[in-house]
Amino acid sequence: MDSLRKVSYPMRDLRRVIVIGGVAGGMSAAARLRRLNAEVEIVVIERSHHVSYANCGLPYYVGGVIKDESQLILQTPESLFKRFRLDVRVDSEVLRIDRLNQVVDIRNSASGQEYSLSYDAIILSPGASPTRLPIPGIENALTLRNVEDVLRMSDATAQHKKAIILGAGFIGLEMAENLVHRGLDVTIVEIADQVLTPIDPEMATFVEQELLSHGVKLLLKTSVTEITEKSVQLNDGNTLEADMVISAVGVRPDISLAKNCGLTIGVRGGIQTNEFNQTDDPRIYAIGDAAEKRDSQSGEAQLVPLANIANRHGRIVADHLAGKPIRHVDAQSTAIVKVFDLTVAISGWSEKRLKAAGREFLAVHSHPSSHAGYYPGGHGMALKILVDPHTEKIMGVQGVGKDGVDKRIDVIATAMRGGISAPELADLELAYAPPFGSAKDPVNMLGYISENALSGITPTAQWHEVESLQEKGWTILDVRSSGEVSAGSIPGSVNISVDELREKMELIPEGKLLVTCRVGQRGHIATRLLREWGREAINLDGGYLTWINSPAGKKQPIHSA
Ligand code: FAD
Repeated sequence: MDSLRKVSYPMRDLRRVIVIGGVAGGMSAAARLRRLNAEVEIVVIERSHHVSYANCGLPYYVGGVIKDESQLILQTPESLFKRFRLDVRVDSEVLRIDRLNQVVDIRNSASGQEYSLSYDAIILSPGASPTRLPIPGIENALTLRNVEDVLRMSDATAQHKKAIILGAGFIGLEMAENLVHRGLDVTIVEIADQVLTPIDPEMATFVEQELLSHGVKLLLKTSVTEITEKSVQLNDGNTLEADMVISAVGVRPDISLAKNCGLTIGVRGGIQTNEFNQTDDPRIYAIGDAAEKRDSQSGEAQLVPLANIANRHGRIVADHLAGKPIRHVDAQSTAIVKVFDLTVAISGWSEKRLKAAGREFLAVHSHPSSHAGYYPGGHGMALKILVDPHTEKIMGVQGVGKDGVDKRIDVIATAMRGGISAPELADLELAYAPPFGSAKDPVNMLGYISENALSGITPTAQWHEVESLQEKGWTILDVRSSGEVSAGSIPGSVNISVDELREKMELIPEGKLLVTCRVGQRGHIATRLLREWGREAINLDGGYLTWINSPAGKKQPIHSA
């Protein structure tokens, strides 16, 4: 019960609650409130023509994976009235909130009628709007936010052949896959030097290769300076033909109503809220993409435009309004995306973010198989965790692979939430049979590797340290087989396979050794042996596979993966 918070504002006079925005956060709040309070009048005002639609499913309607528009519409005003007695008004926009008189002004876009409605409490969940680049012709680009947008985009897809997508974030990549399904020629233009900037570059490479292998053209470190009806102009002077341009460069919290009625906008540009999701007016709650969240690691404000936390906070607000004690939920930023045959998932902070914040961390990479190697159908994956070297707590996790990534990321996200340390991942007793995993699951293995690195049994170096270690006189000892090495290796490395180390002891170079293999496992065995012999040796974390996919590996003129 300690984690349950007292109610700060028991609303005894609760007769009418107005919910602004009838999708993820708003509708979760409305339905939960009704389940807790049969009497209160709940009015849901929604600007678009639909409520409770599956915005996360929109890209798959464009791709034809979801075939029927009705599958995107989870509820209707009628069904919500029948089950919950909710008064749901679509095609209705809240124009302003008058806090002094506790009234909202509403316009019905179908009839043009304007009217006012009094409230005892407001739940503000207006979402986020697609960021519009300040470039000429941006009005020629399509964006995706609601059902109306998706119908427009689907029509355009049927008529066009060449699409350019601005932005290689989650929605941009989902759109790329779905447009390829529809037979379009797709180019992604991304200003950053990698796709999916929430993950680290050596993980993003796998995603970039997947896109290229499905015929998507990728222009990184490139921006668009102008869009016309038939082309886009790039900052490098090139012009690309395009009969369809989609802008997916991020979202901005929809704060207009909040700002206009004088509510505080926080440091991240979202609506500022307290631990109960209340704005600085205790009668007005703000949830979802429009509201700032408290980061579970730093405690700082951040924006997390994701469905899980919008739904969760919707429920919490309803509980608070109903006078129930609540648990405050900080945002961990767990996200997942399908990119053709790959799954990419992340929770917590990336290495880039930790570095930018000046935080100390240990990075651990591994490349396990989704299930036991001897059982057919396993696929390799790349996993990475970031660990606080002092507390041993997990600060972040990332995974990329064809199978089993979702399971591992969700287990580790749960461990993070529960405060389970990185070495303790080794102790988790996870379900195992050969078709599903390994007796030592990839999650357990991350625990073992972390424990070895944190305890100093096998110290590690990272891909970005290789060059500087070489400059300081360290020799790279590659302990893979000569056949593997002939397909590609780190320049300057010396090859003695792990199984020959004992016989070829006299050939091992003098001085400090950075040991590497394909993924780090044989490197660990060799490092242990060398250290037992009194040599100064450390293991290259994640091995050659991590290095070759990193910016360090990619800058080499000739390499093979
Ligand atoms: P929304 O669900 O966007 O609802 C806000 C509603 O408020 C809108 O319908 C809007 O019309 C209405 N509104 C705004 N202003 C007013 C006003 N003044 N008056 C009346 N109504 C108003 N998240 C994930 O976690 N996983 C995913 O796979 C995923 N995929 C996505 C794919 C797409 C294409 C999009 C657009 C989003 C995706 N998201 C995903 C994000 C997720 O949908 C949002 O985080 C979530 O819907 C936010 O909930 P919300 O209640 O804040 O806003």
